[in-house]
Amino acid sequence: MALFNELLQRNKAYVPTHKPFPTIEEIEKKGGGPPKTCVVTCVDPRVFPETLLGINWGEVFLFRTIAGRPQSCFNDLVTLDAVSHGFDDLIIMYHTDCGALRFNEDSIRSELSKTDGKDQVPNLWLPTITKSSEESLRSDLEWMKAQPLLRKDLAKCIRGYIYDLKSGEVREVKSA
Ligand SMILES: [Zn+2]
Repeated sequence: MALFNELLQRNKAYVPTHKPFPTIEEIEKKGGGPPKTCVVTCVDPRVFPETLLGINWGEVFLFRTIAGRPQSCFNDLVTLDAVSHGFDDLIIMYHTDCGALRFNEDSIRSELSKTDGKDQVPNLWLPTITKSSEESLRSDLEWMKAQPLLRKDLAKCIRGYIYDLKSGEVREVKSA
């Protein structure tokens, strides 16, 4: 709790500088709407999408999952696409040195088997990466494109990138 208590103190310092956000109604009155771009990226604390891509508020729907794997947020993603006016761009952004490359699926399953949900463990999908980041990203792009719940038009707009933690560059990885 020590850090979060400190963060709450920082919030107190932030409040006087806060500019109120418009309501959805106010945005719509001005002809605005929900973002048309959706980015899925990793929960890694070194990845700051707003900074590295220069994202302003209101521009992007951002999902953070382990490694940036889209399976983890797929239901939310298709829901958002359905209730907003639809995305024009869907980006899956991995990064270098991802912790998921070090995950050991057996040890995760054995840890989860200690819970009351142990019966669910054998069939649980886990966001591990067992190949290289490039190979995993390519197979995630293919997986997304093959999902029947994803609009065909949107499936054509999916792109994959890897963010380099050292150089700051974002490079595209094309699906096969
Ligand atoms: Zn990661």
